[in-house]
Amino acid sequence: MNKLIIGNFKMNTDISEFTKYLDELLPKTKTKKAKAGIALPFTHLYLASQKLVSTDISLGAQNVFYENNGAYTGEVSPTMLKSVGTNFVIVGHSERRKSFGDTNEKINKKILKCLEHNLKIVLCVGEKEVEKKTGKTLSVLRQQLDVALKNVYENELKNIIIAYEPVWAIGTGKTPTTKEIENTISEIRNMIATGFSQKAASSIKILYGGSAKLSNYLPIINLNGVDGLLVGGASLNAEEFSKMLNLK
Ligand code: PEP
Repeated sequence: MNKLIIGNFKMNTDISEFTKYLDELLPKTKTKKAKAGIALPFTHLYLASQKLVSTDISLGAQNVFYENNGAYTGEVSPTMLKSVGTNFVIVGHSERRKSFGDTNEKINKKILKCLEHNLKIVLCVGEKEVEKKTGKTLSVLRQQLDVALKNVYENELKNIIIAYEPVWAIGTGKTPTTKEIENTISEIRNMIATGFSQKAASSIKILYGGSAKLSNYLPIINLNGVDGLLVGGASLNAEEFSKMLNLK
C-alpha cells in the first residue's frame, strides 16, 4: 500500500518564496514513491491549485470554520476552500487547540460541516507531555476521538485521516520510540473499532506527526499500522521534502 506524506507549512512563506519552493519541489517529485499532500496558508491555495493541477499532490488548508457563510469576520468556510481547489483540511492541530480555542466540540462541528461538503479531513489528536508522564495518553486520545467523531457515520470515515501527533513531539526534535508509535496507533485503531467497527478500524488511515524529518522518518513510516506522516518543519525544505516523498 502507498504511504501518504503530508507537509504542513504552518504560517510560513510568502507567495514568492512558495513559488520558488514549488519550482524546486515539482521536478524532483515527478516519480515520487509516496502519495503527497501539502497544507498551505489560505493565501496560497488558489495559486497552488493552478500549479498542482497536472500533479497528484493533494492540496490542503490548515483550518476551516463550521458555517458556510455569514457574519464571521476572518473565517473561511468549507465551500470557499473547495471553490479554490482545496482537497483536504487539517482540523484539530495542537497549535490551534492551544492558541486559538479549538475545543473537541468545535472540532466536531468543523468535521461535520466538511463532511457535508465532501472536503476531506486530517484530524490531529495527541497528548501533552504532562499527560504522557501521568499515564493519561490513551484516555486523552479516546476523549479527543469520541467528541471529534460524534455523529459521524461509518461510511464517512473514508473522508477522514487521523494524524497521531504527540504535542510534546511537535517542533521539538523529540519523537516517541518506534514501539511507542506502533502501540499508540494500534490503540487508536482499537478505539475506532469500539466506536465504529473492526472493518472501519482496519481501513482508516492513520499518520504519525511530530519532528519527522529525513534523518529519522524511514523507520517510522515503515511501522506496522502507520499509513504515513504529517510533517511540519522538514516539509519547508523542498530538497529534504522531495527526498522524503521519494522514500530515500
Ligand atoms: C506539525 O505541525 O503537524 C508537525 C508535525 O510539525 P513538526 O514536524 O515540525 O514537528
